Amino acid sequence: MKIRKDDNVLVIAGKDKGKKGKVRSAYPKDERLLVEGINFIKKHTRATGQVRQAGIIEQEAPIHMSNVMLLCGKCNHPTRVGFRSLKDGKKVRACGSCGEVID
Ligand SMILES: [Zn+2]
Repeated sequence: MKIRKDDNVLVIAGKDKGKKGKVRSAYPKDERLLVEGINFIKKHTRATGQVRQAGIIEQEAPIHMSNVMLLCGKCNHPTRVGFRSLKDGKKVRACGSCGEVID
C-alpha cells in the first residue's frame, strides 16, 4: 500500500483536483482512501432511530488511490512513492522527489 492512514495527499483528478487533505482511512482491498474534506457526496437520509434528521447530508466518500499523490512531509512536493530496501531487508517508502524515507 503506497498511501496509508494519516498521510497527506494532493488530489490530482476529479472534482476536487488540486485540494489537499489527510487520509482518514485506507481501504487497500478496494484501493480507495477516505480523505478529510475531499469528495463530499450528498446523501439522502430518513429519520430512523439513530438519525433524527431527515433530509440531505453531505458526507465524504472514498476516492481511488490513483486520483491522489502523496505529499512528502520533507520537501512538500506531491510525489510518486518509491520503495527502498534497508540493510535489514525492511522495505520502506521513499519520496520520489527528494529521496527522503517516508517511514
Ligand atoms: Zn520529498
